[in-house]
Amino acid sequence: MTVLHLVGRIVADEQHEVGEAWVLGGRLTYDRPSVEPDVTVSGVVLPGLVDVHCHVGLSAAGATHVPTARAQALADRDSGVLLIRDAGSPLDTSWVADEADLPRLVRAGHHLARPRRYLRDYARELADPDELPGAVAQEAARGDGWVKLVGDWIDRDLAAGGDLAPLWTPRQLADAVAAAHDAGARVTAHTFATETLDDLLAAGIDCLEHATGADPTQIEAIAAAGIPVTATLLQVAQFGAIAAAGTRFPAFAARMRAMHARRYEQVRDLYDAGVQILVGTDAGGTIGHGRLADEAAELVAAGIPAAQVVAAASWRARGWLGVPGLVEGASADLVVYASDPRVDIGALAAPAAIVLRGVRVR
Ligand SMILES: [Zn+2]
Repeated sequence: MTVLHLVGRIVADEQHEVGEAWVLGGRLTYDRPSVEPDVTVSGVVLPGLVDVHCHVGLSAAGATHVPTARAQALADRDSGVLLIRDAGSPLDTSWVADEADLPRLVRAGHHLARPRRYLRDYARELADPDELPGAVAQEAARGDGWVKLVGDWIDRDLAAGGDLAPLWTPRQLADAVAAAHDAGARVTAHTFATETLDDLLAAGIDCLEHATGADPTQIEAIAAAGIPVTATLLQVAQFGAIAAAGTRFPAFAARMRAMHARRYEQVRDLYDAGVQILVGTDAGGTIGHGRLADEAAELVAAGIPAAQVVAAASWRARGWLGVPGLVEGASADLVVYASDPRVDIGALAAPAAIVLRGVRVR
């Protein structure tokens, strides 16, 4: 059995930092073992990173095959991401839980949308939107405690007036969230549009993805309800290109351009209001896997302190998902850096060592 000795700064969270720890039998311990360590790793040690908006098993063309999904998860792992909250996948990825070399995956089942009201081949499309509560119950049973709804998307049936519009009525949303909660699952929603947010909040949504359309009143309501927002700045960076491709729909294009232009301000407004900003890459689809450090750097560029971004990408997200970090006896899932990413967020891009389930994988 290999015994790993960690020295330097072992950072469990803001309040708990010590100078050394050990990994043996796959577990973390702060008690010096009786045997000599085989290997010493030194640096700043953080709980394994968390990508809370990541699609394993999704490519721009829809569901991937299993080997591609595996490669995606390995790319995430090798960036230090050892825990993923899936944000919907058309591929059944329940097998990931059996693969010891892959990150832990909290699945959301299929995302739920309507025909022609989301990216083709990404989501489970409900012909009758009244099916939403029943479908939510099914996806809750299929996933690991999360369900993902597509809250709004462009409505092309409005022809040249095509613009973002909600997919569901307030009643459908309220019944859907209630169905998830009855099943013990939480619900998050993709939302770009201002018009969708009041209904999502009234329905009791647990988390918001993007939330680029939240106006000042809604931002206050999100903060008051304690609902976290995944800012997905890598995704919002693409809004300019999405607008350029959508010039047939002038209102839509103008709105996407405006949200692109104020994306940093929007995140800062959310943060200043007290909203917990989550770190998620939106990998899968059009964004590559393994880019959490890029998303973190974007959040810092938007004005969020690096220490807050690191906490959000590590121990805080773990606590929120109910997965232990660097506590005595927990599975040793950790990342080591030569310098502290809380001081320079750029350090996050270059892990010196990655340990998953007690095994050094990098
Ligand atoms: Zn996504």
